[in-house]
Formats: sequence, structure tokens, C-alpha cells
Amino acid sequence: MAPIPGSGLAKGLAVTLRTMTKKSVTAQYPDAQPDLPPRTRGVIGLFEENCTVCMLCARECPDWCIYIDSHKETVPAATPGGRERSRNVLDRFAIDFSLCMYCGICIEVCPFDALFWSPEFEYAETDIRDLTHERDKLREWMWTVPAPPALDPGAEEPKELAAARKTADKLAAQLAPPATESHADEQARAAEQPTRPQGDSKQQTDQPKSDQPKSDQPKPGQPKPGQEGSA
Ligand code: SF4
Ligand code: SF4
Repeated sequence: MAPIPGSGLAKGLAVTLRTMTKKSVTAQYPDAQPDLPPRTRGVIGLFEENCTVCMLCARECPDWCIYIDSHKETVPAATPGGRERSRNVLDRFAIDFSLCMYCGICIEVCPFDALFWSPEFEYAETDIRDLTHERDKLREWMWTVPAPPALDPGAEEPKELAAARKTADKLAAQLAPPATESHADEQARAAEQPTRPQGDSKQQTDQPKSDQPKSDQPKPGQPKPGQEGSA
């Protein structure tokens, strides 16, 4: 059946009329900032204090776009007679965001919580070579990472928090001055204690006082009873 002349125009006008009455969803960026979910995968932040240069993230990255350089440093023995240790020191940590596909594998595999997602997204460049960001920039993005969501009510405390609290309590106990009782407190406590009449106890009445010599015991140099006159 041949289309009715002008029906296409009428359909188009109907769509226009329908959408004209709806609220616009277009945001006037950059005047209006988008309201992004907190876990948005915008960019990767590096908390380099946690990084032990284990290289897991660089090895697991499917795009090979993480570049890490390091050197070894000798750490003196912690105790006299102990062994020296060596540790890796980070020299370079860079991510090429022109290659990164935002899969998040590097963040998942990092065993030391050194990589995090930040919702920051305004790092477009006009030259693709400028999309390789070094550790200082990655560290700056670390401070835009949102705090983790609160635990469920009644959930077990994370073991990292429990260990940190235990260490803090131990340090506070070591630094606290020893508890000293004031003289007034000691006097008050002494006044509260019941006084016992002397000679009332079984120990005092039954047992001879150690500083008094027994009457029937010979003094040194005197003959024992029964030995008198035998010499
Ligand atoms: S998000 Fe994926 S592609 Fe990007 S650096 Fe990490 S592992 Fe590589
Ligand atoms: S996996 Fe984590 S700790 Fe290991 S090199 Fe990468 S960021 Fe550093």
C-alpha cells in the first residue's frame, strides 16, 4: 500500500512535540559538572608508600602500559649482630593512558593496596604522548579517591584496622606516664582499712616472735640440758 502523502512529516512533528515537553538531560559541561557515581573508573591513582615494586601490576596488565623502574637498597640490620636486608626503591611508575583500557586488573592484583580508582576524568591532551602520566601525577590523583563505603552494621572490623588499633594502644601504653598515687589517696585508703587489735591473730599468739630467744633453748656457749656436769 502506498504511503499517505505527508504522513512521514506528521510522524516527525509528533516526535518533536513529544520530546519538547520532556525535561532536558543534556548537561552544559564544563559549566555544569556531571554527577558521577563514587566508584567511577576515571583514572588510576598511586599510593606509592604502599608500593613494594613487586611488578605484579606491570606483568598482569594486558596492554603492557605500566612502566616501572627501581633499584635495590641495603637496609642496615635492625638489631646488633642481625643481617642486613635489601629492599626495592621505586624510581619510576608511569601509566600510558592512551593504551590503558580501564580494565582494572592492575588494581585488583596489587597485593599491597597501592593502586586505586579515582573518578577524576579531566586529563585530555592534544598530544597522545602527553597521556603517559608519571608517578607524581598519579600520586596527585590519589587524593581524589573517595573514601570506601561504610561497613554493614555488625560487620567484622577489617583486620588492617584491628592491627592498627592494637599497635596504637600498645604505643599509647608505652608513652603514658606511670600511674602515681597521691599521698592524700594513700591516707584515705589507709583510713578505710579495718584496724586489727594486736595479738588477736592466731599467728601472733601461737608462734613465738622470731626476735625473742626461746627460753628453753640454750644460749651459744652454754651446755645443752642433760649435758651439764658430764664434761
Ligand atoms: S586498567 Fe588494565 S589496561 Fe589500564 S593499566 Fe591497569 S591493567 Fe593495564
Ligand atoms: S602490584 Fe602494587 S605493589 Fe606491586 S608494583 Fe604494582 S603498584 Fe606496586
